[in-house]
Amino acid sequence: MPGPNSPASGYLVEAEGYRLLVDLGHGAFGMLQRYVDPAAVDAIVITHLHADHCIDLTAYIVALRYGGHGYRAALPEGRIPLIGPAGTRDRLEAAYDPYARKLGLHELFGFSTPVDGELGPFRLSYATMNHPIPTAAVRIEQGGRSLVYSGDTGECDDLVTLATGADALLCEASVGPDDEYIPDLHLTGKQAGEHARRAGVGRLLVTHIPPWVSREVAGGEADAAFGGPTDVVSPADEYEI
Ligand SMILES: [Zn+2]
Ligand SMILES: [Zn+2]
Repeated sequence: MPGPNSPASGYLVEAEGYRLLVDLGHGAFGMLQRYVDPAAVDAIVITHLHADHCIDLTAYIVALRYGGHGYRAALPEGRIPLIGPAGTRDRLEAAYDPYARKLGLHELFGFSTPVDGELGPFRLSYATMNHPIPTAAVRIEQGGRSLVYSGDTGECDDLVTLATGADALLCEASVGPDDEYIPDLHLTGKQAGEHARRAGVGRLLVTHIPPWVSREVAGGEADAAFGGPTDVVSPADEYEI
């Protein structure tokens, strides 16, 4: 969920002028506009259909349909490729307006499901995470550098495999020391650090910390378990991978 100082999940990955948006949760579409014209985004990857990772696509629809300065006319190839789990279009239509299903969303977004391959300058590969609904972590590679984003997950060997040797792992750490621990849902800071250590990544970027969990504690747990460079990500942070 968003907190007083942060929207929910949303990350902009850029290389060679190509802009790849990964997830778009509550409030992330507003913040996105600080950095890029929404119509200038080249592609979108949605890891899963929990609201904190996708619900601001409903705001995207408004911008593309009604944006006053030609958002839609400026769309690359007429629509934005949107890679997400099966059912993304249905979820989006229902969230935007369940009584008006003929939205023509295919005219705004080119829907597809995650398949390993090239996208713009990037090579993308995916792995299914340990979360209650279909969720994909994504590995993004370009120019010999690599970033892996966990999406949401409980403990997951496939995250370690996907992240092996990556320059950076952007990893969720949702569960605080005072929270009830529910298996197969989310990671603690310590578990995020353990995954990073097992994968041998270059650095760990800790994210998805809910507002009721101490960022210092989550980051400290992750840092201690990883034993390598660890940052707790803040809104508007930028990293060169
Ligand atoms: Zn989730
Ligand atoms: Zn989430």
